[in-house]
Amino acid sequence: MSELHKFLFDGLPVRGMVVRLTDAWTQILERRAANSDTGAYPEAVSNLLGEMTAAAVLMQASIKFNGALVLQIFGDGPVKLAVVEVQPDLSVRATATVLGVVANEARVSDMVNVSNQGRCAVTLDPQEKFAGQQPYQGVVPLHGDRGEKLERFSEVLEHYMRQSEQLDTTLVLAANGKLAAGLLIQRLPSGGVGNLSGGLSVDVDEIGRHEDYKRIALLASTLKKEELLTLDVDTILHRLFWEERLLRFEAQAGAAAPRFACRCSRERVRNMIRSLGVEEVGDILSERENVEVGCDFCGQQYRFDAVDAAQIFKASAGPAPDSSLLH
Ligand SMILES: [Zn+2]
Repeated sequence: MSELHKFLFDGLPVRGMVVRLTDAWTQILERRAANSDTGAYPEAVSNLLGEMTAAAVLMQASIKFNGALVLQIFGDGPVKLAVVEVQPDLSVRATATVLGVVANEARVSDMVNVSNQGRCAVTLDPQEKFAGQQPYQGVVPLHGDRGEKLERFSEVLEHYMRQSEQLDTTLVLAANGKLAAGLLIQRLPSGGVGNLSGGLSVDVDEIGRHEDYKRIALLASTLKKEELLTLDVDTILHRLFWEERLLRFEAQAGAAAPRFACRCSRERVRNMIRSLGVEEVGDILSERENVEVGCDFCGQQYRFDAVDAAQIFKASAGPAPDSSLLH
């Protein structure tokens, strides 16, 4: 079963998390494989999307925010788009748009950053918005400060966390066809003591805390993908941090664990069809029996025939001034 473990380093401003997505991840892959339009993901795409999924769950779990966290890559290679959405209850869904062939050994840049134009976006979309409120979005490139292409997706997100959240973060991510897993180590904000001093005096405590983070981050970065995919959480934490004092929280497993869930519904698709307009939908129905809409996230197919369509437009409020002119 999928699980999320949180821990603190006793007395130090450093926290960590490990996520292991088993059923939550394999359901995403199985639904994709069952989609006759797309077929299964190429292995390299699957592994990248798995890393993104693990990372998005870790990020959602590390913020106090009542809304969806959406992690996206806009690629300029065969992977045009990859999206992971995680709700505050850690329900997750993910999908990728793949156009063209992706080799098994393809690197991140081969898939999504061929001409160095790829971007990664993190969107926080509040559940309850006030009028006119836009979701918060931060965007980082898929290259480093000197334009070098980043081949580990974790580096992209470490960049994002430093830039947008001003949080030093170390991530190790790995995925295969059965498991998507991640380790996050984060330096907690120290309450702005350094800022108040105006940079004139040196805060010795602050330096000490930074050294603690650096030591722990260095230990974390020695974790290999293979270890993350094959070892249980107790073993991983013991191997990395046996000299540190860890305070572990109760694992989020079972009902509280991250899990797959799609938020699509017939009602949402109805609204989408309504927004297409009566003419466009009429055109589609003059050529085929149904308007068919498939959900990219879960593969659910929604079909609306002429009777359904008539109801959708009948039910929509307000006059439809143009339709009378057509006759
Ligand atoms: Zn769906």
